[in-house]
Amino acid sequence: MINIAIDGPSGAGKSTIAKIVAKTMGITYLDTGAMYRAVALHVVNCGKNPSVEEEVKELLNDINISYIKEKDENLICLNGKNVSEDIRRHEMSKYASEVSKIPAVRLFLVDMQRKIAQSTDVVLDGRDITSYVLPNAKYKFYLTAKDTERAKRRYEELKAKGQEVSYEQILADVRDRDFNDMNRDFAPLKKTDDSFEIDSTEMSLQQVVDTILAKVAEIDKNSQQIKDVNMSVHKQIKKNRNKVKHRWFYRGIANFVRWAMGAIWVTKIYFKDNFPKNSKAIVICNHYSAVDPCVIISKLLGKNGKVLMKEEIENNAFVAKVAKELGTIPVKRGEADVNAVKSILGALNKNQPVLIFPEGTRNRQSQKEFLPFKPGVATFAIKAKAPIVPMLYYKKTGAFKRNKIMIGAPFWLDEFYDKKIGDVKEEATQVIFDKMQELRKEIDILVEVCKGSKKRYLKYKKNQSKELCANVGKGR
Ligand code: C5P
Repeated sequence: MINIAIDGPSGAGKSTIAKIVAKTMGITYLDTGAMYRAVALHVVNCGKNPSVEEEVKELLNDINISYIKEKDENLICLNGKNVSEDIRRHEMSKYASEVSKIPAVRLFLVDMQRKIAQSTDVVLDGRDITSYVLPNAKYKFYLTAKDTERAKRRYEELKAKGQEVSYEQILADVRDRDFNDMNRDFAPLKKTDDSFEIDSTEMSLQQVVDTILAKVAEIDKNSQQIKDVNMSVHKQIKKNRNKVKHRWFYRGIANFVRWAMGAIWVTKIYFKDNFPKNSKAIVICNHYSAVDPCVIISKLLGKNGKVLMKEEIENNAFVAKVAKELGTIPVKRGEADVNAVKSILGALNKNQPVLIFPEGTRNRQSQKEFLPFKPGVATFAIKAKAPIVPMLYYKKTGAFKRNKIMIGAPFWLDEFYDKKIGDVKEEATQVIFDKMQELRKEIDILVEVCKGSKKRYLKYKKNQSKELCANVGKGR
């Protein structure tokens, strides 16, 4: 059996890396930390104290841990219920660390882990795998990173999930857990002499994965099994290369779609200079019909921009691939989608404009009345300190009719930058809503009063401001 054991302190990236290594090698991944978390969850759910040995021991007989496979993931079940999300709550880390000090808990879980390792090719990560669970494993790694870096990673992960936490608190928790894990009497965390140490502080995920894969191949050059695995790793690399080749195909289709959409839905765009082509900005627009994202993608976003779309777009593999080339970021609606959040912030950091429909869904009435705005735009604009560019889509029915888009001046939510997002996101969302209402008035004037002529509109605005000045003068 192939058993790859990875130990290290919390936040060193063990589980992410172990998962990729297992996937690349086509073998199973076992997250032993999740098992301690599941025990802790059961104890807390039963109203018992995770640090009182007697209370915890009594409950062990009632615990049944199992796994279900979903897509590529092994989801952990506690007494038949999927608890993969619940065990990741911040407080569960501390409770898991408490129950893990209890020898009876360790023996209970270690027994399960050894049985799995005897019958399965597996990558296991934890604290005592190299030293206690599988001291004879052939492939042993100790993955670590500076505690400040580990705390930073954890902090960003929790923030992305929308949990309110402070960096200082996370750093203190990381240090506490390190102390607990390294100083408990039974099977403490330590680097064994025969483990290969990797410090990931300054390494990318891929570099760590590659280091582990290379080391595994080096340790056992003659094993037929590893040779087979290497073959499958090479196959995977070849597959990736083919994927890149196929990308050209989808990219070509995406370019055609971009062109065709622009040709069919003829749209006049007012104040195009306000549109950020190559800079970080959140572009917001009303979402009248399925057509408006197409128009904006083809006419404005170009190849650099991104657009947030509901994840159902991925239901069809072909559409999903073309959409990806068109710059879509799929998002799960109605929940905190960590991957989408990472992609949005990542795009903004790379100076790419991101289009978000603040109503979160299509609204046929949006020319007259908006639905309430979701807090996402405010959250991203504050987090990334990005300007917001408001746009309004004015629809004429039927293809080949000249629809209109008016792009307003960018604005920043800088009055909220030094505040806690949770406290201000509603107020900030109201600011955004008001800006869109203002823009609606302007496009109504442009289309209805000035008959779509930019020249007339500018003249109208000039006269309006003259009148205003005159009235202010009279008032005095
Ligand atoms: O890795 P993760 O943070 O999910 O683990 C939760 C806790 O479980 C750790 O802080 C550690 O105390 C405990 N643990 C352990 N031995 C393992 C895996 C995890 O003691 N093999």
